[in-house]
Amino acid sequence: MVKTCRSITALLLLSIAAVAISCQKAEAKTKMQKQVFGKTGNGQQVDLYTLTNKHGMEATISTYGGTLVSLKVPDNKGKVDDIVLGYPNLDGYITDKAYFGATVGRYGNRIANGKFQLDGMTYTLPKNDNGENTLHGGIKGFNKKVWAATDVSTPSTEAVELTYLSKDGEEGFPGNLSVKVTYTLPANSNELKIDYKATTDKDTVVNLTNHSYFNLSGQGNGDILQHQLTIHAARFTPVDKGLIPTGELREVKGTPFDFNQPMAIGSRIEQDDQQLKLGKGYDHNWVLDKTGTPDSLFLAAEAYDPQSGRVLDVLTAEPGVQFYTGNFLDGSVTGKDGKVYKRRYAFCLETQHFPDSPNHRNFPSTELKPGQHYHTMTVFRFSTR
Ligand code: BGC
Repeated sequence: MVKTCRSITALLLLSIAAVAISCQKAEAKTKMQKQVFGKTGNGQQVDLYTLTNKHGMEATISTYGGTLVSLKVPDNKGKVDDIVLGYPNLDGYITDKAYFGATVGRYGNRIANGKFQLDGMTYTLPKNDNGENTLHGGIKGFNKKVWAATDVSTPSTEAVELTYLSKDGEEGFPGNLSVKVTYTLPANSNELKIDYKATTDKDTVVNLTNHSYFNLSGQGNGDILQHQLTIHAARFTPVDKGLIPTGELREVKGTPFDFNQPMAIGSRIEQDDQQLKLGKGYDHNWVLDKTGTPDSLFLAAEAYDPQSGRVLDVLTAEPGVQFYTGNFLDGSVTGKDGKVYKRRYAFCLETQHFPDSPNHRNFPSTELKPGQHYHTMTVFRFSTR
């Protein structure tokens, strides 16, 4: 009897040890943290996923809006700061009008008069931009949706895959659009990759981007006018008073829009220039000098902050980038850590197809048809000087 008991105990101990070992193995595969962020008004749970790497970088993504809520990056002395604007809680994101860190869709930036034609049909969208145009996908764009999330980490990267089904007719757009956005942070390099995929069951238009507001000195730590910026683009798309592209692709040479050499963001922002006046600063799309296949990554822009030594490189497969200098921030928003976000306290580099493309035949097409695969990618790569 005693013998049987001993062998049962030994067996039990062995199986406990086996379970512990397999748990450890699972842990070695991914250490990604998941926590509850809160609940939406209709009771949907929102989670936060935190991706970390071996070099002190950390990215937190919310399932509400597929939003990058914090991005911690070391400076040239190894000090880690959060370098994107955001809110201290979910409510901030629910009432947000600035699109802090959001995944923007179905159509990033503006569509003129809330109208476009496709296959001879006219589609009407909500005019959520001063009652004139459609901005960032309409009243309830992808930034206001709860996305489903899956941990897709591997031994060498932490990654979260977000999915959302945008129903036929949502915000006026045709076709059921099935969207997948994956954020990946490699263990060994300071680069956050965002990969976008979509398919549709009806002809539609798609233009997805991320709307992070960067301040490389740390979020809320003053304006970004001393940051030095390079944009690899010989042309930009000038706009009208509603910030709709006129259709012209204008040379940047000899204008305050020439960032082909590193320039302080603030050095020309107050110049007497009609386009700067219309944008109340920079709020324009640059036509990237992109080479290679439509799928290949191109170094679109580099931003350097002399104060922290942080450098941000933006690489993308997209043909354009919206450089926006936070002209509409006015100190009315209190964000993370009680920081007040004033005018030009951050800049955005939104990789994209050009604004209002569905109404401009000379712009690269944003149409997606059944059977086609929308696929694009943007990388935010960090280093220090
Ligand atoms: C637009 C700005 C807008 C900002 C926040 C940018 O992409 O170009 O005009 O104010 O997003 O919505």
